[in-house]
Amino acid sequence: MIHLNLGREPLRDWRLSGVNGSEPPEATAFAPAAIEAVLFDKDGTMSHSEPMLESLAAARIFQCLESLPDQQLESRTLLADLLHRAYGFSPAGIHPASITAVASRAHNLIATASAFAMVGLGWPEAQALSEQVFARTDALHGQGSQHRPQPTEGLADLLQRFSEAGLRCAVISNDHERGIHEFLAIHGMQHHFQAIWSAEHWPCKPHPDAVRGVCRELGIDPGRCALIGDANSDLRMARSAGVPVVLGYRAGWRQPPPLDPDVPQLHHWSELTVSQGHPEGVVSMVTISTDTST
Ligand SMILES: [Mg+2]
Repeated sequence: MIHLNLGREPLRDWRLSGVNGSEPPEATAFAPAAIEAVLFDKDGTMSHSEPMLESLAAARIFQCLESLPDQQLESRTLLADLLHRAYGFSPAGIHPASITAVASRAHNLIATASAFAMVGLGWPEAQALSEQVFARTDALHGQGSQHRPQPTEGLADLLQRFSEAGLRCAVISNDHERGIHEFLAIHGMQHHFQAIWSAEHWPCKPHPDAVRGVCRELGIDPGRCALIGDANSDLRMARSAGVPVVLGYRAGWRQPPPLDPDVPQLHHWSELTVSQGHPEGVVSMVTISTDTST
C-alpha cells in the first residue's frame, strides 16, 4: 500500500477527519489513505502559467478594443474596464481564481462576448467579435507563447519519486489535449503520465464526472486517488467524486490562490513524500524521499 505524507504527517481520507461536524470513526481515523494514483491540475499547479495568461489576457483586451465598431467607440474605456474585471487582470497579476486562470477557452469566450454585450452590442455581433479576437490571439496560449509555461519548482523530482513508488499519474486540465501533451513533452515528463483529461473530454472540469472519467482511463477507482490543484473548483470537484486525499497547491501564482482552509496545502513539492505501508494498516514510515527540509 502506498501513502502520501505532507511533511511528516501521513495524509488520511478527508471524510474520516471529522469535517462538517461529524465524529471520526475511532479505528479508521488514524489510518493513512491507500493511494494508487495522483491526478494533477496543470495550469498554476504543474506549470507557472501566469506570465503566459497575463500576456494572453492583455492581447485579448487590446484586440477587443481594436475591433469595437465605430458607433461604440465612446464605450472603449468601459469595455476595457469590464474586460479587466472579467479576466481578473490587475497590476498585481492574474487573479488565481479568475476565469482566465481557472476556466476553459469556451467560458472565457462567453465572458468576452458578455462584456461586448454590456457596452451595447447585440449577442450575435458580440459572439462573432469574441470569436475573431480569440482566433487572433490563440497562438499566444500554451507552449507557443513567448512566455512558455515552465514547470513548478521540484515537480520533475516529485514525478520521478511517484513513478519509482509505483504510483500512476494523470493530468486533469481545462487546457486542450494538444497543450497538455506539448507541456509534458517539452519538459520530458510524458512517461510519468498514464492518462489525461482535457477540455476536449466530456464532461470537462469542474464536473465530478471528469474525475471519474480520468480514473476510468487509469483503471483506478477515485477512492484510491489523490488530486492536487490550485483552485477551489478542483478541490471541491475531487471531494464530490469521492477522492480521499485532496491537496491545494499555492506556489504557482504571484498572489497565492484563496483555497478552502480545511484542505491541506502545499507550498513546495518537496513537502510531499511517499511511504509504503502494510495492508493491515500499521504504517511503516519508510519514506522514499528523505527531502522534507523545505
Ligand atoms: Mg489550475
